[in-house]
Amino acid sequence: MPLQHLRDPGAARGIADAAFELMATLFPICRSITGNGVRATLDCVERWIPLERSEVPTGTPVLDWEVPREWNIRDAYVADRDGRRLIDFKAHNLHVVNYSVPVRRVMTREELEPHLYSLPDHPDWIPYRTSYYREHWGFCLRHRDRETLGPGPFEVVIDSELAPGHLTYGECVIAGTAPGEALIYTHVCHPSLANDNLTGIAVAAALARELRARQPRLTWRFVFGPGTIGSITWLARNEARLSPLRSGLVIGLLGDTGPLTYKRSRRGNTVTDRIVEYVLKTGSASARTIDFEPYGYDERQFCSPGFDLPVGRLTRSPNGTYPEYHSSADDLSLVKVERLAESIETLARIISIIDVNRPVLNLSPKGEPRLGKRGLYRSTGGMAPGEFEHALLWVLSLADGAHDLVAIAERSGLAFELINEAAAALEKATLLATIDDSIEKRKGIVQ
Ligand code: ZN
Repeated sequence: MPLQHLRDPGAARGIADAAFELMATLFPICRSITGNGVRATLDCVERWIPLERSEVPTGTPVLDWEVPREWNIRDAYVADRDGRRLIDFKAHNLHVVNYSVPVRRVMTREELEPHLYSLPDHPDWIPYRTSYYREHWGFCLRHRDRETLGPGPFEVVIDSELAPGHLTYGECVIAGTAPGEALIYTHVCHPSLANDNLTGIAVAAALARELRARQPRLTWRFVFGPGTIGSITWLARNEARLSPLRSGLVIGLLGDTGPLTYKRSRRGNTVTDRIVEYVLKTGSASARTIDFEPYGYDERQFCSPGFDLPVGRLTRSPNGTYPEYHSSADDLSLVKVERLAESIETLARIISIIDVNRPVLNLSPKGEPRLGKRGLYRSTGGMAPGEFEHALLWVLSLADGAHDLVAIAERSGLAFELINEAAAALEKATLLATIDDSIEKRKGIVQ
């Protein structure tokens, strides 16, 4: 059964409910770009789908970067003289600047102040701050609490460890029957933040689980890795095997109330761009497409000019464009299950179209082949042909090697699914062939 059956809203809603439960399990874990939080997250994902894990040692050169030291944290707090915790990592893991170096010291308020982060405009929210590549430590707190902190002295403790270790990522690979691969990448490095990034993890896991129950045509690779350094590490280790990559998507931020938003690949006219734009145009009235820019999430790495891959990004609100972004207000209450369901339904259709889309060639291109004698043309003479017959005619007409199925759907105005059905019937009748689609040939496809 194709993944597309998820277009049934009931099916997508059931999957969204399960994805939300997975998010609730993942929410308390303190994740970072390395460390045990990532491993614990992959353990949870692995209850749904098998993962091939990679542990890449600290110091490994990856493109222009190197794998950093591994970060783990047990506890952190700022306490008053009576030992009362005024800022407590155990109450919320956003209270510590992610990747803080260890600290254990008594300090005045004045000494502590340069290490405090709060949001005066949102005094009840804890900000999310990181310091991966500069040795630093700090605490994030509600601005309201900062105002009542007092002069000190304070006992300041960050019981963390920054030491040689590994960068961890996991991949779920679902083998296809035809040449070619497709990629879904989602980041796994944010601590207790829900829309960014637990929705990405849960939706990717849910879609991989659904796809595993079917037989895809392409080989699908779902990668769960940290942001930026994770995709850079994955690319460095997989550079030699990128040529079969037909399409890819970075996904995340899929549960807020913003409209579905597709960010085009750098090239802007790849097969991924055409398919996602087609699905959004025909599926969601409020959806929008934005152009590529070299800022955002891991699409920056996949689309860097040395790779130039056909990888776009699907989110609802893009990074940084909703007030709760990167703060404690991005919690499970921000995620709406019906929005998650719409995201899942849309991604299921995108994946099912990417999977079967192919350039086709009419094997009997001189004049119309006789469809009636092959049992393909059912209309009685004088009657207008039905939709399926129209689809057959459109496929035969445009199957000149320069169009793939999504281009035929676009040009004909007929649904992709009908065009695909017609193409399958014509292939069965040996009137049509799938062109062996090397990347080079695909680049020649009329956009
Ligand atoms: Zn983020």
